[in-house]
Amino acid sequence: MSTTVRIVGPNEVRRCSKCLLPETQETITYDNQGVCNVCKQHEYKNESIDWVKREKELRELIEEYRGRYQYDCIIPYSGGKDSTYTVYKLVRDYNVKPLVVSFDHGFYRPQTMANTKSVMKQLGVDYHLFTPNWKVVKKLMAESLRRKGDFCWHCHTGIFSYPMQVAVKFKIPLLFWGEPSAEYTSYYRYDEKEEVDEKRFNRFINLGITADDMVGMIEGVDMRDLEPFRYPALKDLKAINYRSVCLGSYIPWDPKKNSEIIKRELGWKGAPVEGVPPEYDYEKVECMVQGVRDYLKYVKRGFGRTAHLASLDLRNGRITPEKAQELIDKYDGKRPASLDLLLHYLDMSEEEFEKIAMSHVVAPHKHDPKKIKKGEPLPDMPQWDRTK
Ligand SMILES: [Zn+2]
Repeated sequence: MSTTVRIVGPNEVRRCSKCLLPETQETITYDNQGVCNVCKQHEYKNESIDWVKREKELRELIEEYRGRYQYDCIIPYSGGKDSTYTVYKLVRDYNVKPLVVSFDHGFYRPQTMANTKSVMKQLGVDYHLFTPNWKVVKKLMAESLRRKGDFCWHCHTGIFSYPMQVAVKFKIPLLFWGEPSAEYTSYYRYDEKEEVDEKRFNRFINLGITADDMVGMIEGVDMRDLEPFRYPALKDLKAINYRSVCLGSYIPWDPKKNSEIIKRELGWKGAPVEGVPPEYDYEKVECMVQGVRDYLKYVKRGFGRTAHLASLDLRNGRITPEKAQELIDKYDGKRPASLDLLLHYLDMSEEEFEKIAMSHVVAPHKHDPKKIKKGEPLPDMPQWDRTK
């Protein structure tokens, strides 16, 4: 059990003395100085990892697989800053021939699709896009929202399962993901090289619900409908001798710098995001309902996307705690306009949504719906598809 030097009252939420992340963040712990374990990992990343040695390991890994299969590797791709940087870096600096694989969650924003088209052309790569059945997706969203207070099960399971299925089907054993989760959370530490495998999938991707569980929970779907969301069998992955790793385990990962590089080199464009200051126009730009996801987190845990971004900048010494607090107060926790669209898709009332969200509040945080103000709609919202 860790303690902090600051005395907190029974109802006060404890926060990291360095990055301000609250105790309602999953897996967070604090040391005697009140510094959180994510901050500790960040120090470790900058001070204790031999990045020259890691980069040499990256080269060896690539050479081990180069030219032996139809593609040197698979790069799972969302169109966001991290996966775009991953494709850019591996193609431009390491000359790999990847199959880039996207699992379309159904909520790509217009700028993301334009970016993707341009990036694939400029880098000269083969691109594989899969879009699951929208009617199934809607059922999955409603079910996981009601059960876990999180409607993104379909997206997270699909994004991590589907590229693994492609690996098995096309017999491409090497997969490169982008940022390691140690950058943001403490499910893994920076000193363990994080394998993006089924253990990790079950640890924090699938909310403890498998595709097989979902079949039993939802009316009118069968196992074939859920196949895109199912992690491949370990024996099938072992049969191709798979390796599924994060590029950020081998080269130091800096989301802000990476986004500057892809903007400059590829003309990748950011976009405004609900609940986020305009200077972070590179963060989570690929999803129409990101604002709702972040708002749900705010209701449940008392902090949103701006607190998360401010924590990264605080760790990097890029802003002062005062400035961070000012941004958090100004941007976090507004009721996003995109919630209207999500409720429209799901045929759900706002009362029901709020009731579900409130039933998942993490103590000691308390949510007060009366204090919530409305956020402004995003400029591209009129172009979003409203098909139910
Ligand atoms: Zn911290």
